[in-house]
Amino acid sequence: MTVGITRHCSKCKQDKLVNMFGRNGRYIYSVCKVCKRLRMAALRYGISIEHARELYNASFCMCCGMKFTEQRFQHIHHTAKGCQGVVCQSCNHILHQETVKDLRRIEACLDFIQSSRKNLFGRVNPQATVKGASTTTRSARFGEQICNACKRILPLDAFSANKRGWHKHQCKHCCVCFLQARIYKLTFAEVYTLRLREVCDCCGCVFTVKNFAAIHHIQDQVLGLVCDACNRCLGQETQEQVQRLTACVTWIKTMMI
Ligand SMILES: [Zn+2]
Ligand SMILES: [Zn+2]
Ligand SMILES: [Zn+2]
Ligand SMILES: [Zn+2]
Repeated sequence: MTVGITRHCSKCKQDKLVNMFGRNGRYIYSVCKVCKRLRMAALRYGISIEHARELYNASFCMCCGMKFTEQRFQHIHHTAKGCQGVVCQSCNHILHQETVKDLRRIEACLDFIQSSRKNLFGRVNPQATVKGASTTTRSARFGEQICNACKRILPLDAFSANKRGWHKHQCKHCCVCFLQARIYKLTFAEVYTLRLREVCDCCGCVFTVKNFAAIHHIQDQVLGLVCDACNRCLGQETQEQVQRLTACVTWIKTMMI
């Protein structure tokens, strides 16, 4: 069946170049890549093949208007209400589930970008001592250990252990702080203090394991401690991103009507 360099697609009934078909080892599929992509989308998003074809024919993001330079940048945007259209990857992330909560987050991000902010650590003494450290004179009991960075007495499970059961001398929280201090060129004390905050500077949500705290960092400046969702929405705070966020707000509001 693979005579020459063309192959017949059993779905669209067209003869196409062999490289238009996926392969599994030596085996070349009987359905071409285009047909396969349509079928996968139809199955995944519960739409017809025709609808999927229509969506993939779009050359611009239906939300922000960005041109799709490559097919893989097209994302079928799907929420609990079903398929909403085809958008770019950035809009797909920002729009999320298109809930009121998502809308509020995007609006908070726009406000956050437009508010006047300074480098958070522009005026902080880098030699500052760690705040929030325990001043207790009690010594560690069985099953506890003193973190040699924050000086708190903590249960052993607050320290990561190696295979032999040896626990680190710094608690997990402090290890993250040390790592981030290195990444963002801050002092340990600065990161430690920053991470004591429990809510997102941008949308005000409480940090969770899933929507964790992220240091929002742009052009060598730390602009705040935000939730992961906001951090993705804010991106590099470029003009392009602001336009995209604005488009996403309009999109969600229109969909809600
Ligand atoms: Zn085909
Ligand atoms: Zn877009
Ligand atoms: Zn610690
Ligand atoms: Zn947030």
